[in-house]
Amino acid sequence: MAESSKLYENVQKQFDRAADVMGLDEGIRTILSTPSNEIIVHFPVKMDNGKIELLKGYRVQHNNALGPYKGGLRFHPKLDINAARALATWMTWKSALAGLPYGGGKGGIKIDPKKYSMAELERITRRFTYALGDNIGPDLDIPAPDVNTNSQIMAWIADTYVQTKSPANRHNNLHVVTGKPVGSGGLEGRDRATGFGVVSTIKSWAELKGVDLKGKKYIVQGFGNVGYWASHFLALQGAVLVAVQDMSGTIYNENGIDPEALNDHSAGRKGQISGFDGAESIDSSTFFALDCDILIPAALGNQITVDNADSIKATLVAEAANGPTVVEAEAILLKKGINIIPDILCNAGGVTGSYYEWLQNKRSENWKIEDVLVLLEDKMNVAFDKTLKMAEKYDTDWRTASYIVALERLQTTYMERGLFP
Ligand code: GLU
Repeated sequence: MAESSKLYENVQKQFDRAADVMGLDEGIRTILSTPSNEIIVHFPVKMDNGKIELLKGYRVQHNNALGPYKGGLRFHPKLDINAARALATWMTWKSALAGLPYGGGKGGIKIDPKKYSMAELERITRRFTYALGDNIGPDLDIPAPDVNTNSQIMAWIADTYVQTKSPANRHNNLHVVTGKPVGSGGLEGRDRATGFGVVSTIKSWAELKGVDLKGKKYIVQGFGNVGYWASHFLALQGAVLVAVQDMSGTIYNENGIDPEALNDHSAGRKGQISGFDGAESIDSSTFFALDCDILIPAALGNQITVDNADSIKATLVAEAANGPTVVEAEAILLKKGINIIPDILCNAGGVTGSYYEWLQNKRSENWKIEDVLVLLEDKMNVAFDKTLKMAEKYDTDWRTASYIVALERLQTTYMERGLFP
């Protein structure tokens, strides 16, 4: 089965399980089982060598019952319609669980951004934004960064969106995207919001289980924005980063890897960790079986599978990535007594940070990072507590419980409003 089909199958199996456990209304189950809109665009871009490439972009809008579609754009060669569907669906659950006034969407471009120059990436981003046209908008569908996209890409999207509207319509539209640079309406702290939220959930878990994070060993898969910031904040708790894996290799140091030094190293190498002299390079296939307390998958989906789940030594898997654990592997982890902080809870700090950026823009304000982090931690704690209570109420696992929190909110909305016409 193609990786993306597996991703979509996973989110549907998770949804079905939660819907069964809570007894979700049949009609609402039907509505939520399929995305509302699926937009595919093909757009031409002139490359630096004068040649024209036709690129493929996606935006899947899963559901907007709670507010505008919301979710990231990724630039990745494996992005396809099923991956976009799965990721958009997870965004609906994530926004609902976090208590945000948003639905779920996701998309991006099927490219390997490493193969393009900055000037080409700018033209690709702007032309994609133009192709999406009025399918996005500050009160309709609000993109944000995801895998291989960053604040610079968001600034180009915001600028293109604003410039292609008539002058009379240009005011106050920068909040068509979040995750912008601070100089262009971005929120101080949005850069670290996902990693910060990941660590807030790990702190909540530690408190619940009476675990002292000081000296605990953790390993991280993926050292992009989320992997780095999660490592940074967990190191502040006194935990020790012992291994990191990315596309370029796997590095290990039982005495600890300094996340800041590794981040400095990778910054000069298009984000790749290989060649770091503060750790030894090890065989990538041994990563999941490494001796550690906490495993943080912070890269792509479908990473924890039936082939490696049994070898995992961690007592906690904190899902910073979207969809890192396949359903069959989750059963193995739970049987082994491993706790899992599910993705829609664990990485919800990102979209929550986005929400504060959107509010800041709507109110024409500039918020302080100290205030942002307090608000973020509070929202993460509320979502964590709601999940625990739901797990207790239905005597179920944390992922199913987090889905039920989200689905109850959606069910209430549909029941109150009814269905047009
Ligand atoms: N791409 C992030 C996610 O998967 C953030 C989405 C957002 O901020 O809208 O949650």
